Amino acid sequence: MPLRPDGRLNHDLMPGEKGPQDACGVFGVWAPGEEVAKLSYFGLYALQHRGQESAGIAASNGEQILVYKDMGLVSQVFDETALGALRGHLAVAHCRYSTTGGVTWENAQPTLGATASGTVALGHNGNLTNSAELVGLVAERYGAQHRGELARGNTTDTALITALLTGDSDHTLEQTALEVLPRLRGAFSLVFMDERTLYAARDPQGVRPLVLGRLERGWVVASETPALDIVGASFVREVEPGELIMIDDDGLRSQRFAETKRAGCVFEYVYLARPDTVINGRSVHAARVEMGRALAREHPVDADLVIPTPESGTPAAVGYAQESGIPFGQGLTKNAYVGRTFIQPSDTLRQLGIRLKLNPLREVIRGKRLVVVDDSIVRGNTQRALVRMLREAGAAEVHVRISSPPVKWPCFYGIDFASRAELIANGLSVDEVGQSLGADSLGYITLDGMIAATQQAESQLCTACFTGKYPIPLPADDQLGKHLLETPLGAPEDGLHALSASPGGGGALARP
Ligand code: SF4
Repeated sequence: MPLRPDGRLNHDLMPGEKGPQDACGVFGVWAPGEEVAKLSYFGLYALQHRGQESAGIAASNGEQILVYKDMGLVSQVFDETALGALRGHLAVAHCRYSTTGGVTWENAQPTLGATASGTVALGHNGNLTNSAELVGLVAERYGAQHRGELARGNTTDTALITALLTGDSDHTLEQTALEVLPRLRGAFSLVFMDERTLYAARDPQGVRPLVLGRLERGWVVASETPALDIVGASFVREVEPGELIMIDDDGLRSQRFAETKRAGCVFEYVYLARPDTVINGRSVHAARVEMGRALAREHPVDADLVIPTPESGTPAAVGYAQESGIPFGQGLTKNAYVGRTFIQPSDTLRQLGIRLKLNPLREVIRGKRLVVVDDSIVRGNTQRALVRMLREAGAAEVHVRISSPPVKWPCFYGIDFASRAELIANGLSVDEVGQSLGADSLGYITLDGMIAATQQAESQLCTACFTGKYPIPLPADDQLGKHLLETPLGAPEDGLHALSASPGGGGALARP
């Protein structure tokens, strides 16, 4: 979606175009005596920046799982009535931005599947790279009659995982998960549950974050630490890459399904995660401020004022100002009420472009030599419009500084960048990109500078969108792509909007 409702901006974006998109937030809670649906709601609220297309919660009272999901923001999907219907002591929840499968109600999560003894409900953050192989595995194991979410028109890699987790009649869900998880390739931070047990699992590379928290009377797992904070859970530790966690009446158990080969997404530090998140021990805000400091050292310039592209560029702009000694100022006002909109701008509004999101503070910037700090450039359209807008507002000079290196490669692990051909840094030198933006100068942080700011070892990070070095092998081009699963297993059956996921007896899917 073109606009983010969390006060941050899809920064490289003109109305009607897509910028880099997060690929979902997940939340799970096991807490007898608590209102788990409401905890999940607020957990999703804290993770809204990770996905704004749809939201859903699955809750279980120990006997039955009920899923409620719909298109839209968390606050649009749920009201007191919906949350009141989701009773129980454990829940999993999800907010979606799609990287596999279209933007449809059927593809909203959590997904449901019938196991031999009950139901599995699942939420997924990430993107699998071996979906084509898994389609074959699902068909081989279960045939055309056992397709669960796939039969209901779900065309996501999440539906494949759900289908595989439905398992065999002589296996528990835990046993099935330990068989299935090693078969998955790519990025996956999963929360799933049956009627009695909450599960969490993370791919061996730990590409996407996933953390464990403690409530007074239970446990929480979530994509980012602010979702723990908002429900009053204390941070315990990360879910380790290659780890499966189970939480039920017997307490918390942990199993390894693969060796850790850590390759966490560096872009989480640059832009994706909330600034108040901590990933692998490093504050995202502190990392961004340090990126700005490094940027000032690497690309100094004589200027009067450092301004951020709000909000995502703000911490790096603060760091640039601190290091350079140039005053920091707010030169742009953003529309604080920007939210998801289905309304496409008219041609007239399209001409205004960036002004739907940002407006200059003319008295602040008139006559000034500006350093404008942003976190990344994808297509360059927004920065081009921004430079023009600042000049029209009277800026004497506009120097653009970017707190990540040039984005030259697409992401296959859960972030929906533009295609390679659309990336402005693919094929243009830095000077040419700067000229294309109309800037007086352009400077990107170096790869080393960015990595140093994260305080992570380079060998433990994914940097593929900057370097082209993909830490998880990719299949052939024709086995990748967002719409890979739109057709292979046939058209959805009719009338399956409401589902009893028996034979195990438990699941129901509520369509508003
Ligand atoms: S390719 Fe880029 S956005 Fe994707 S996981 Fe790697 S670092 Fe993150």
